[in-house]
Amino acid sequence: MVSRLWFFCVRIRTIDAVIITHSHADAIGGMDDLRDWTNNVQPSIPIYVASRDFEVMKKTHYYLIDKSDIIPGAAVSELQFNIIKEDPFIVHDLKVIPLPVWHGSGYRSLGFRFGNTCYISDVSDIPEETYPLLQDCELLIMDALRPDRSSATHFGLPRALEEVRKIKPKRTLFTGMMHLMDHEVVTERLLKLRETEGIDVQLSYDGLRVPVSL
Ligand SMILES: [Zn+2]
Repeated sequence: MVSRLWFFCVRIRTIDAVIITHSHADAIGGMDDLRDWTNNVQPSIPIYVASRDFEVMKKTHYYLIDKSDIIPGAAVSELQFNIIKEDPFIVHDLKVIPLPVWHGSGYRSLGFRFGNTCYISDVSDIPEETYPLLQDCELLIMDALRPDRSSATHFGLPRALEEVRKIKPKRTLFTGMMHLMDHEVVTERLLKLRETEGIDVQLSYDGLRVPVSL
């Protein structure tokens, strides 16, 4: 969830929708923080979420779904929940294609493709049937947790680079790095890949703005 400070810095005045990748705490914890937005900026926000993740949210964020128990006058986020499957769906005329991936053994997470941009934030393995959805990707934003190896639930940098070589996007931004990833050291390494292999890979950072064509 992007902090509200960045909303201000990049002049976001409307949130058209929030699309949920999966229901781990760091992916849905920000639901609460939307309350200041729906109380002060716009009356409500549509949420797009897979039914398995909605079932989790019914337990973790029950007060945002069933409001019958809320103390009168207490302010919570005003959210409209839309259940998605692993099929394409439309948000404000924008076609969004779910990119099903594994995020640990037996646990499904969704990446999303919109236009030629593919976003996969939490992934430990990509099923064969997802690769065709990644064809002709111009901008790939992908999980790379640590510099040395993958973990049970996330790509490490070596595996993430392997996937970039396979998917062949025009440009890749890695996301979700832990503090073991020394930004300057890794950035220098990645820059060299531009010369040696002709691949454009970069670590993303807070406040990075990327134009996308839709
Ligand atoms: Zn996760």
